[in-house]
Amino acid sequence: MTLEQRIEQVERRITEACERSGRTRDEVQVIAVTKYVSLETTKLAMQLGLLHIGENRWQDVQPKWEALSSEGVWHFIGHLQTNKVKDVVGKFDYIHSLDRYSLAAELDKQAAKRDIPEVRCLIQLNVSGEETKHGLSPEELFTFAEQLRELKRLKIVGLMTMAPYEMEAEATRPVFRGLREWRDRLNASGLLREEASHLSMGMSGDFEVAIEEGATMVRLGTVLVGKEI
Ligand SMILES: *Cc1c(COP(=O)(O)O)cnc(C)c1O
Repeated sequence: MTLEQRIEQVERRITEACERSGRTRDEVQVIAVTKYVSLETTKLAMQLGLLHIGENRWQDVQPKWEALSSEGVWHFIGHLQTNKVKDVVGKFDYIHSLDRYSLAAELDKQAAKRDIPEVRCLIQLNVSGEETKHGLSPEELFTFAEQLRELKRLKIVGLMTMAPYEMEAEATRPVFRGLREWRDRLNASGLLREEASHLSMGMSGDFEVAIEEGATMVRLGTVLVGKEI
């Protein structure tokens, strides 16, 4: 399949998932996860209209970012080591993997140092409780949100989660529903300065279920841009 055909097919599946759940297509932002493809393919994807790009390691994305950053919206979706914050802050429009206070504090500090007024972040929750997954356990969410209040440059725009890979798509539904419920509780708690509306959830194997459960950002690699490396 060509990249155009894959995009078309994914687009159709997204539209159908939106229709099934009474949502409109513009409520769901596709993030093309380009970590498995080359700079050339990333460039082509952007030319074909995939302007939101997701990557999870600075070392890998650096050449792509340097060549293409002016045209896109960049999402850092992988585990972020505290000592890598200075590489990514100010370069990525969204950090999806905020999962501990030390990381939050470093993001705030490095943003201040560079006069960056705002770093948009999503808090990563480990809803499924899998030990191999990064992310805060949901029970820690409110305490964490309270700690973030002093970090004035961090803007919490939503929550992110990953469902267990090996699960049947339908079995992931409680994970995605759980994330939506935690977002609603977080907003109701009044702990955030502004409402956090985003739900970053759904990957190649489970994005339709995620959309049915309210995803506003789906992170699509293999199914959308393919896997070359
Ligand atoms: C790699 C990755 C994706 C995309 O994975 P696919 O299954 O290829 O769609 C999405 N989110 C995160 C956090 C990833 O690391």
